[in-house]
Amino acid sequence: MENTTHPPAMISLKNVSCVFGSEKNPVHALRSVSFDIKAGEFFGLLGPSGSGKTTSLRVIAGFVQPNEGAVFLNGQDVTNVPPNKRQVNTVFQDYALFPHMTVGENVGYGLMVRGIKGDGANRQIEDALKLVRLSALIDRKPAELSGGQRQRVALARALVLKPLVLLLDEPLGALDLKLREQLQHELKLLHHETGVTFVFVTHDQHEAFSLCDRIGVFHEGGLAQIGTPQELYHRPNSEFVANFVGNCNFVNYRQANGQLLRYSIRPENCHLGGEGGAQMVGIVREIQYFGANYRLIIDPSGLEAASLAEIGHIEGKRSLLQVDVPQSLALGSKVYIHWDKNHLHNFPQDNFIDVEVN
Ligand code: ADP
Ligand code: MG
Repeated sequence: MENTTHPPAMISLKNVSCVFGSEKNPVHALRSVSFDIKAGEFFGLLGPSGSGKTTSLRVIAGFVQPNEGAVFLNGQDVTNVPPNKRQVNTVFQDYALFPHMTVGENVGYGLMVRGIKGDGANRQIEDALKLVRLSALIDRKPAELSGGQRQRVALARALVLKPLVLLLDEPLGALDLKLREQLQHELKLLHHETGVTFVFVTHDQHEAFSLCDRIGVFHEGGLAQIGTPQELYHRPNSEFVANFVGNCNFVNYRQANGQLLRYSIRPENCHLGGEGGAQMVGIVREIQYFGANYRLIIDPSGLEAASLAEIGHIEGKRSLLQVDVPQSLALGSKVYIHWDKNHLHNFPQDNFIDVEVN
């Protein structure tokens, strides 16, 4: 007989709400947030500063008690279970290593607290350091390490306790770009080698996209959308998500019945061309060089009233265009912009969120 029961989610938040502040001045850090994270997933929490990402991690770890809702770990209701009784560990942006202890002692601290000593502890410390490729530095103090090495110690210290879940709160935020990319790669390998469920908080869309299997996008304490990076980029459910995961133009199309319908279109789907069949005309206001391509900022104010009615227009003062070659364009030149209507993306009406666009 076919087994139709699914394994329980590794992490499950059910209608979790968190309110901080006073009764007079409440801060709604989380508003009825629900999501499931599967065992072994690399799951991202993405959103602007103050949107509720860290609070979600603290709820999972048990440092914050939700005002409403429930938290499940591996199928068990842990809403009222204290942090030290949950098989969850956290890695923070600022490493939080003990400065007076060696790398080995830092990694072994959690084992010591649990009464694991001697050869057994040493073996586990060595294994954890091997995982993060730091075996040679076991006797160093944190002050004698680079930022990237310190973060690898923090990872080893969290993983040595063999948690079911590793929570990472902007762990690469303090590192420069090259080092961050290298550690992203190492995190991916570490996830693969350990099979532990990773929950990764970041405000950086590129970082979330390059690491995560699925991502929950936070907006003002609520979950705007959950999906794979591909789903979020190509099928955003709201203007907020469309804008937060990459750059976006917003276009109003007038229907035969006079109604305006609103769509988004990505800059890479807008092309320069001749006047015939153009969707829009505009004036080049800025040319930004990005190495692999250029981004043009077009002022659509050159549009004539007739074409507005027929083909719609791009909203706002600026619209973005991504091109390979600037085609010897000068600032102030008039350009014709083309796109394939198949690349327009329409939003469900009830998902509209007011945000500032470009
Ligand atoms: P993020 O990690 O996405 O930047 P947070 O989850 O830290 O956001 O915060 C969400 C909101 O809750 C913010 O407005 C923040 O100021 C507020 N907040 C978080 N923790 C507390 C707290 N302990 N006391 C009061 N307000 C808090
Ligand atoms: Mg945070």
